[in-house]
Amino acid sequence: MQVIDTIEDLRKARKAISGRVGGVLTMGALHEGHLSLVQHARTDNDAVITTIFVNPTQFAPTEDFSGYPRDLAHDLSMLEKSGVDVVFTPKAADMYPSNFQTFVKVDHVTQGLEGDHRPGHFRGVVTIVSKLFNLTQPTIAYFGQKDAQQVVVIRRMVKDLNFPLDIAVIPTVREPDGLAMSSRNTYLTPEERKAGGVIYRSLVAAAQAYDEGERTPANLRAVAKSVLKTEASVEIEYVAINDPQSLLGVHEPSEEPILLSMVVQLGKPRLLDNCLLPWSLNTREGLTATLGA
Ligand code: AMP
Repeated sequence: MQVIDTIEDLRKARKAISGRVGGVLTMGALHEGHLSLVQHARTDNDAVITTIFVNPTQFAPTEDFSGYPRDLAHDLSMLEKSGVDVVFTPKAADMYPSNFQTFVKVDHVTQGLEGDHRPGHFRGVVTIVSKLFNLTQPTIAYFGQKDAQQVVVIRRMVKDLNFPLDIAVIPTVREPDGLAMSSRNTYLTPEERKAGGVIYRSLVAAAQAYDEGERTPANLRAVAKSVLKTEASVEIEYVAINDPQSLLGVHEPSEEPILLSMVVQLGKPRLLDNCLLPWSLNTREGLTATLGA
């Protein structure tokens, strides 16, 4: 496994690879969720390039950029065991040299949901993903369902700016109690960690109501919220139902697939989760065909 931290060396390494390249972009503090993306990339391609970069431009000044968990030695050992070929760990000063002034902005699908709660976040995400796509030139780039709006936004950017690559959407990997794996779970106290299982239970309850014929978005949201409220430490930021392609809010009953997403604050971290309904769409094939497609 080659570990590369300069743009020049990355360009050389990329040129030396022929065949299909799987790209997995991360901020490090890796867990099984990231490794699932790597495994899919490994299976589909001749080589895998993973990037590790905690991108300063996607954090608001009030957010956790400086405290974001970092453990490069552990990350590299996990990636080596997973059969990654190249790891790119650029320095912020190389990605954003002085006088940097070009940002990529996606319009409508960055509004609502995380876009409303994290102003400027997607501008930073889309800019760094564009740069990392240009540098790593993947044949297929792998993104996690957990950041569903990010998937929709990146797909829009790929289409609008004609990036020559495909996007694969990989289902959320969960802890045994259903809590979505996240680098930010390390912020949870043991009690908060235990309470976190309620997030998945709320998705399952809404999916069950959907399965039993409930289609009214307000009722599905109410089912999810009533489960979340059984944990006093969980503060609901939003529970939303959106069209998985346009991300417009869905307010009328519909037989079209819908995206149920939520963010809760549990102690320090904001925790995101979501599912597509019907539940059977929460597979790589279903997600890739539905989310932002
Ligand atoms: P991050 O390091 O948080 O920026 O995440 C890098 C990639 O891993 C993104 O595409 C995430 O959506 C994805 N990812 C994060 N957590 C999970 C998870 N629990 N299951 C699957 N993919 C995930």
